Formats: sequence, C-alpha cells, structure tokens
Amino acid sequence: MENYLEQLNEAQKEAVLNTDGPSLVIAGAGSGKTRVLTYRIAHLLRQGVAPWSILALTFTNKAAREMKERIGQIVGQEVASKLWMGTFHSVFAKILRVEAEHAGFPSSFTIYDTTDSKSLVNSILKNMKLNKEKAYKTGTVLGRISAAKNDLIIPPVYARDAQRTTADAASRIPRMPEIYQKYMSECKKAGAMDFDDLLLNTNLLFRDHPDVLAKYQERFKYILVDEYQDTNFSQYLITRKLAEKYKNICVVGDDAQSIYSFRGAKIENILNFRNDYQGYKLFKLEQNYRSTRTIVNAANSIIARNDKQIQKTVFSQKDEGQKINMIQAHSDVDEGFIVINDINETRLRHQCQYKDFAILYRTNAQSRIFEEALRKKNIPYKIYGGLSFYQRKEIKDLLAYLRVTINPKDSEALKRIINYPARGIGKTTMEKLEAIASQHDVSLWEVITNPGLPNAGFNSGILKKLSSFSTLIGGFISQVPNMSAFDITNEIATQSGILKELHTDKSHESQTRLENLEELFNAIREFSDERQEGGEDNGLVDFLEEVSLLTDQDNDSSDDINKVTLMTIHAAKGLEFKNVYIVGVEEGLFPSGMASTTEPGLEEERRLFYVALTRAEERATLTCSRSRYKFGELTFARPSRFLGEIDQQYLNIPEESQSFAKPKPGMPGMGKTTRRKFNLEDETPEKKKVNFSGKVLQNNRPEPKFNSRDLAAPNQIQPGVMVEHERFGHGKVLHLEGNAPNIKATVFFKNAGQKQLLLKFAKLKII
Ligand code: ATP
Ligand code: MG
Repeated sequence: MENYLEQLNEAQKEAVLNTDGPSLVIAGAGSGKTRVLTYRIAHLLRQGVAPWSILALTFTNKAAREMKERIGQIVGQEVASKLWMGTFHSVFAKILRVEAEHAGFPSSFTIYDTTDSKSLVNSILKNMKLNKEKAYKTGTVLGRISAAKNDLIIPPVYARDAQRTTADAASRIPRMPEIYQKYMSECKKAGAMDFDDLLLNTNLLFRDHPDVLAKYQERFKYILVDEYQDTNFSQYLITRKLAEKYKNICVVGDDAQSIYSFRGAKIENILNFRNDYQGYKLFKLEQNYRSTRTIVNAANSIIARNDKQIQKTVFSQKDEGQKINMIQAHSDVDEGFIVINDINETRLRHQCQYKDFAILYRTNAQSRIFEEALRKKNIPYKIYGGLSFYQRKEIKDLLAYLRVTINPKDSEALKRIINYPARGIGKTTMEKLEAIASQHDVSLWEVITNPGLPNAGFNSGILKKLSSFSTLIGGFISQVPNMSAFDITNEIATQSGILKELHTDKSHESQTRLENLEELFNAIREFSDERQEGGEDNGLVDFLEEVSLLTDQDNDSSDDINKVTLMTIHAAKGLEFKNVYIVGVEEGLFPSGMASTTEPGLEEERRLFYVALTRAEERATLTCSRSRYKFGELTFARPSRFLGEIDQQYLNIPEESQSFAKPKPGMPGMGKTTRRKFNLEDETPEKKKVNFSGKVLQNNRPEPKFNSRDLAAPNQIQPGVMVEHERFGHGKVLHLEGNAPNIKATVFFKNAGQKQLLLKFAKLKII
C-alpha cells in the first residue's frame, strides 16, 4: 500500500514521520493514538529499519495481533511477523527464557496464574498458622505482594520500608515481610514466576547484568508503547533502561483513560517521561474519528468533573448523532430483556449486525443475566473474561499435568494433580510432604523422588502410591523430546486416567468437560503444527506460556464472526463498537461501593465511565435497575450519580421520567452535580412507568417502584398455588411472609429449586 500516509490527518502524520528521538502523544479517546503507533511502525519498516529492532508493547495480545495484521497490509505479513510485538508480560517472558541462566531460573520456568498465586499464599498462611486470623486475607496479602513487586521492592527492602510495614501494622498484618519472603522463595524453588515477577525479574536481570542490558539496548533501536497511562513503575523502568542508548521511544496514552491504578498503574509515568527525556517532542491529536458529536461531547462533559487531568481538546466532525438513551428497569432480569430487545430492534432499524453491539459492565458477575436473555432469544454472543476457557477445572487439570511434565518442580501444578484422578494420596500425606519440603527447602517433586523418603515415616502403601505417581510423571518427562505436543497431551490424558474418569461418569457435566478437553487438544494441535512446520521444537513450553498470559480481552474464540460482545469495561479499552450498552449504572455498582468513598477512587470510576462511553461509534445506551440480586439477596438500587453528571442536553430520558440521580450532599463529586438542572420531583408509580428518582427509605435507599399491570395481584398468590416465573419456569408457592408491599414468597420451582422472591418484583403469573 503506497498511500498509507494519506490515511492520516496532519497532526497524526507529523507524529508518524518524526520517528527519531523521544516522543509523547497524549490525546483523548478515539483520536488515532493506536493508529499513529501502527503507521509509525509501518513507516519505520518502509524506511528500511529491521523488524527485529522494533519493540512494540501493547496492553493485550489481541491488540498486538491486530496491529501486526494492519502493518502487514502495508509492508507485507512476512516482515510484520518479525516484529517484537506483544504485551509487556509476553515479550519479557520470552527474553527471560533466553536469559534464564542469568535470572537464576530454568528456561522452562512456569508462569503462575492468579489461582496458583492464591493457592500458594494460602498454603504459606496455613504453614504460619495465620489462616484463621481474619486480617490475613488471601486477596489482601497477594495485593501487597503485587504492589511491592510493581514498585520493585524486594523482600529484604520491604522489611526495612517503614511506610509499608507501618501500613501492614495498621491493617493488622504485621507479618507481611515474612510472608512475602516465603512466597518468593517458594516460587524460586518451584521454578515459577507470577505475572509481576516477569517484570520484576526483567528489571533485576537488567540491573545485575549490564552486558545483557547492553545487548537488548542495541537490539531495540525503536521502542513504542500503547496505553502508556496504564503502565506501572516496573514497566516504566524497563522501557527507560532499554531506551537509554538510542532514545527512540514513542509512548501514546490518555490520562483520562487510566483505569488500572488498582494494579499499580502510575499516571506519574507520563510526568516521568517529560523529565527523563528533555527535548522530547509532544504531539497532540484532537480530532476524534470514532464517535458522533453527541457521544464525544457527553464524554467530555463527564470527564471534565475530574480535578486531576491534563487539559486537552477532543472534538468530532462526525454527525451529531442521536442522544444517549437511558433506560431504568424494574429488576436486573428485566434489564437483561430490555437490552436484548433493544439490540434486536436497533439491528433491524439501522441494519446493523450482531457484531456491532457490545454490552459493557462494571463487574463480571453481571454478565450472567445478559447471557441468559441472549440465549433465550437465540442471539449469538461471545463473552470475554469471567471464567474463561482456560480457567475451567478440566482444562486446568490437564494443563497442570503438562506443566509438571515440563517443570516437575512446579509445586502448585503438582498439588493439583497428585491425587487427581484419585490415587489414594490424601490430605495427611500431602501435609507431611509439604512439611518435609519446607524443612529441607526443596520442591515437592524433590521430596517425592528422593530415595531417603522411606525414613520420613510413610507406610509402605503410601510409598508405593507416591512412587507409582513419580514413575507416571517420569514417563511423560522422558517422552517430551520425541513427541509432538499433541501426542504428549494425548498420552497424558490417557495414562493419567483423566479420560477414563470422565468417560465412566455419564453425567451431562462430564460430557461437556470431555468436549472442552477436545477443544484443548485442537488448540494444542493448531499451535504445535504451526511450530513444527517451521522446524522448531514441539512448542509445549510456548503453548503453556501463551495460555498463562491470556488477558481478559484475549479470551477470544476463533468463531467470533458475527456475535454480540459481552465484556467488562476494563477489557473494552482500546476497542470500538457501533452500539454500546453500559449496564448496571447504579450507585454501589458503578461507581463501585468501595471506590466511591474516596475522591481518587471516584475519579478512577469516572475515567472508567469515560472509557465505556467513548467505545461507542453511533449509539450509546445507559441502563440501570431498581432492584438487583447480590449474593442471592434482593437489594434496592439507585441510579448512578454519573447519570446526573452528564450534560443533560445529550441525554434522552424517557418522557415520563425527567428526574433521576437524586444527589446527596456530602457525597464526593456531588457538589458539582447539584448545580445541574434537575427535576427532583417524586412520581407515583401509577402515573409513570419509568422513574429515576425514587423515595428515600429510612435506610437511605429508594424504594423501587413497580408496574402493577405486569403482576398477578399479590393477594391471589397463596400457598399451594402454581405459578410461572419468567426465568425459573413453573413452580409451587410454599409459603408467604412479611407485609404488603414487601411480601416474600417461598416458591419451589421444578427446574430451578427453591427460591425466595419478593412478590412485587417476581412477576409471578398464576397458572
Ligand atoms: P483509544 O483512546 O480508545 O485507544 P485511539 O486514540 O487509540 O483510541 P484509534 O483506535 O487509533 O484511537 O482510532 C479510533 C478510530 O478512528 C479507529 O477506527 C481509526 O481507524 C479511526 N481513525 C483514526 N484516525 C483516522 C483518520 N485520520 N482518518 C480516518 N479514520 C481515522
Ligand atoms: Mg488506542
């Protein structure tokens, strides 16, 4: 493609052509930042720069694939495939494997995913007898470890760091330094790194081996980083070190879209960049090419409420477009159906395809209701995140076998499979084995394969079981060099007894599990065929690495041709869709309850809202519900303050409900809201079908309104009566409790079991 530069506006072109020296592109959503990076790489290649001397870091593997594809269209796929391009984690995992010896790890090191890390923390807590202490929560402990690593604080430094130890003492977890130390040494023993270690160890490698650093500084003559606002300190330092020699570094980002501070992302990295590279060039992109004027202006109006931000202009020259729709549903189930019906209607009216629609939510748990509604209406959809394919039990089990085969010291994987399928190695044996491993400071595998084991007091039955397990694994290990990845996997699934176990169990669930395993076999076959065609090894190590590093957004099935997308807002960063539904826009959910108690937390939620809204090209819809099941309890919900913060001229509020989001003085961010024009009148449910305000109950929650026309009159519902529920199907009322309008019915549903339902929401029909 000869005219690629013509596909850029003047500002973008300038940013693309200025390839040498440090550059910073800070610009709003949809202004072509990613496009600039892509074309800049293509341009470098066109200028004769070697593809392997370009390092491009993206936020997801999917983004890297798309960028590579686009560059390939300009310079040819052959050249594009030689670029160093991927997420920080995947690129530096590759480098760490090559340099493993210097980093003090085997080159086949395992990557621990979050489940492995949690399990390791749990066993450490148990060992230290802290597992019963309330303050020592797995998540909290892991969060502290992760934060320390991302700030490059190693355990001995942690123990001396007054700020951290004081914070730990205040949270009543004073033994954090010791836990962190143990966690690190267990990982080392297991030849394993967690996600944060990939970055930390890269930093340590570069710090302790100047020759290695020099090699990569020389190799990567051009460095480019997308979504720079969400890099953490560890990532920042890696790029700074690598760019030290040639200083050809280009970073693009938008401070208004920084949404990962909970994972250690540091907006200061943008400021650091300015200090590190005096004389850097700053490029501003102001025109948004993605969205209608209404969407851009509405998004600007809400982000303007954040105090902490770099001033910039974003405008669209597209059509004004239609206003942003707002819908309030009676219940979360209703919300699902309303959205799905709207998708169907919009699809027909505007001749869209299913792939033009995205449903974005704040938390993964919200997806279920939409999934159910989509299934009922036979609409194809794909869901990202949540329990991804590779998180399923049967998949993790088989992968754990593969991990142990590649790296038998991987104790988390070993613990998972030592007694699966059951082979009589019980809890007590495991505890003993772990105690011995800890006493001798070795991995579980080393204990099991140690000839001195009989002295450890195991009876001969157990010893036999352990030895047949180690023989089984030893057999797999010896086969690795001579077999394809597919054949080894097949061998393992058969010899381990996994397949037999699933075949003998005739339940529907086992059938699904077998199908999932089959899918895993397919994935491995595809991966290893490709590799072996290129004359490489069987690729098992790389396959396992790729699987461990899948991000939310990469959880992508190949058949995503024409499907509605469901994902969290975090996963939607960088993407765009013609029609976007932002659902569950309620107080306590979005902004989330925790975040809204502090100003920085609230500002991050607002940025998240900005990210969500700016994904939409033509139409955006915001929905909330008056009630919602949380942890099996029916709770009342109030519309989010964000609905009140958007400049009202861009909203289409259903005529009958001109009021919503009653601001409460004293809430963070509410000061500004109250200056907006609001109609805070209350309405009666008879008159108005949709009502965004709600009466405030003693507990400060609005009482949800309901549309009596939809319901069977509550007094007709009596114990013994047969009823029908939209989601649960047919059932029998067992008993009632409470007073109108809060009568609760216990109903036994034929297919869904016993449920407690509030009559005013349940929409029960008598049958
Ligand atoms: P985000 O902040 O969401 O990551 P971004 O700044 O990276 O957005 P891009 O994704 O690069 O923006 O571009 C947004 C959309 O606008 C894309 O569909 C892109 O192809 C299109 N676009 C960007 N620049 C131009 C241009 N000069 N002419 C036509 N379309 C453009
Ligand atoms: Mg982008």
